[in-house]
Amino acid sequence: MSFNIEEIRKLFPVLHQEVNGKPLVYFDNAATTQKPISVIEALSNYYETDNSNIHRGAHTLADRATRYFENTRKILKDFVNAREEEEIIFTKGTTESINLVASTFGRKYIKAGDEIIISTLEHHSNIVPWQMLCEEKGATLKVIPISDIGEIDLEAYANLLSDKTKLVSIVHVSNALGTINPVKQVIHLAHEKGAKVLLDGAQSTSHLDVDVQELDCDFLAFSAHKLYGPTGLGVLYGKREVLESMPPYQGGGEMIKEVTFAKTTYNEIPFKFEAGTPNIADVIAFGKAIDFIQSVGKDRIKAHEDELLGYASKTFSEIKGFEPVGTAKEKVSVISFNIRGMHPFDVGMMLDANGIAVRTGHHCTQPLMKRFGIEGTVRASFSVYNTKSEIDQMATSLAKIAKIKNK
Ligand code: PMP
Repeated sequence: MSFNIEEIRKLFPVLHQEVNGKPLVYFDNAATTQKPISVIEALSNYYETDNSNIHRGAHTLADRATRYFENTRKILKDFVNAREEEEIIFTKGTTESINLVASTFGRKYIKAGDEIIISTLEHHSNIVPWQMLCEEKGATLKVIPISDIGEIDLEAYANLLSDKTKLVSIVHVSNALGTINPVKQVIHLAHEKGAKVLLDGAQSTSHLDVDVQELDCDFLAFSAHKLYGPTGLGVLYGKREVLESMPPYQGGGEMIKEVTFAKTTYNEIPFKFEAGTPNIADVIAFGKAIDFIQSVGKDRIKAHEDELLGYASKTFSEIKGFEPVGTAKEKVSVISFNIRGMHPFDVGMMLDANGIAVRTGHHCTQPLMKRFGIEGTVRASFSVYNTKSEIDQMATSLAKIAKIKNK
């Protein structure tokens, strides 16, 4: 597919509507992206023609559903360049992927006195599971500080690392600020100390080429719904040897080899971590979402989003009272800001009255907001289907809103 923005927009039915009497401008992509028609149709096609439980059936529908389901695993293996498709585990999302690692890797390998390192930029889903684990085990959580523009302090990180560090769990791209972390260096330094590294890829997988072999991360967690796919579905990538060394997550069907009342033996990866009937329809539809990304091309999506980011940063900065939060040198297409003298929620409500959807608040990063001494921000995040004229629409609205308190 060539990069024709009008053709791309036609693939997303939700974009073609009015909100509050104005054409919808959807700038809440960091919260969730819209879905192309191929994803929506895959969901109904599955229930209309293929619905069946997978992996065990001896009949044609079960075989078809299994093949389609497993095909998405292959697509995802290629998407993140895993060595083998067995290294791709389906979960409910980034949150569950991280909790899975905390519950299994954590249960086995984290002991009293050990240390886990995260950063100030983390989403709550990459903070709370580690706090719970540390509390249970008597381990310590350490936090990498950031600069005033929202970049992690690599020197401070190097000083936090020690022989006690068992895991570094860090966000690849900040959902609140858009900062791209230097994860290759983070991983390299952690490995020198023998620590494993989990990357929270919830925001990076939609904007960057994420190659798990090149990065050498031990785990990568991400969500389908930020990648034009369905909600409530995600992936945990893990290196085979690490996954094999971990105990199972939940007990039940599918994750077993043999069950007797005396003893159960467990299935191989990935099934060891996929107890119960999975989200079959959504997994199949997720494959179509990745097909969409591949058909446009990650490099072209990134180039388009970078152009929008540059344009919006310049346009918004001309508005009196516009105060950006997080201006890292390496960023994806996320702009977090406040309007001087105004509460972010009020700004969001006024933009919504003009058909413009943004997110306001702490973005599930309360400690990060505290670091900046603010309650929250307004966040506009751009995606493949957004346009410069939509940014102009927002700038016009924002200028009027800002004038209320910034004459
Ligand atoms: N980490 C980051 C950086 C995120 O942006 C999000 C979603 N906002 C999550 C984790 C959690 O993802 P999910 O809610 O899909 O589990």
